[in-house]
Amino acid sequence: MEKISRESFLSYLEELHSDAKCALDYNNDYELLISIILSAQTTDKSVNKVTKELFSKYKTIEELSSADLEEVERIIKPIGLYKNKAKNIILASNKLKELGYKNIPNDYETLISLDGVGRKTANVFLSEYYDANTLGIDTHIDRVSKRLSISPPNATTIETEKKLKEFVKDFSYKKLHHMMIAFGRNECKAQNPLCETCKFKNNCTYKK
Ligand code: SF4
Repeated sequence: MEKISRESFLSYLEELHSDAKCALDYNNDYELLISIILSAQTTDKSVNKVTKELFSKYKTIEELSSADLEEVERIIKPIGLYKNKAKNIILASNKLKELGYKNIPNDYETLISLDGVGRKTANVFLSEYYDANTLGIDTHIDRVSKRLSISPPNATTIETEKKLKEFVKDFSYKKLHHMMIAFGRNECKAQNPLCETCKFKNNCTYKK
């Protein structure tokens, strides 16, 4: 098996998915952060269905902070884990309001102090909204990195994040994030990946 090079990795991803972008519908920083929190363990498509009503009813951090919990639960019920998610987005809005924020801060430490926001959510938000030098590792990115030995098989997401950043060097993390998710969703799927036509098959530990 040949070790994959940075150039062939990035050029094939660009060939397949150079136009990949965030699949969540949002108009501002508030809507993006809440959508990312809601997207845990569900699809972006199903999040977009519930946020239409959610954001038309609660247009700001302030409005969501004083929302009725049962009403928020009703709106987001179709996405699953809705009880926890409803509680978290109200608590997160409350905390931002208490801290005096009218917008979502460009600050990792503040973000991860919010209910429902962990390392991945904070990194995805900062990279997507502020183009920050952060890389959120989701299940697709983790799987692809390991199959191509960019990160070791037992690496934690923090280790995978570090290895991937070292590997791609100065390439845009935001673009990388979207292209790798698209590749993981469409070609390098968890089950039945499309290995026959994949240009990485000589670099892959998993190839079928
Ligand atoms: S050869 Fe198959 S498993 Fe390996 S990267 Fe390509 S699609 Fe994924």
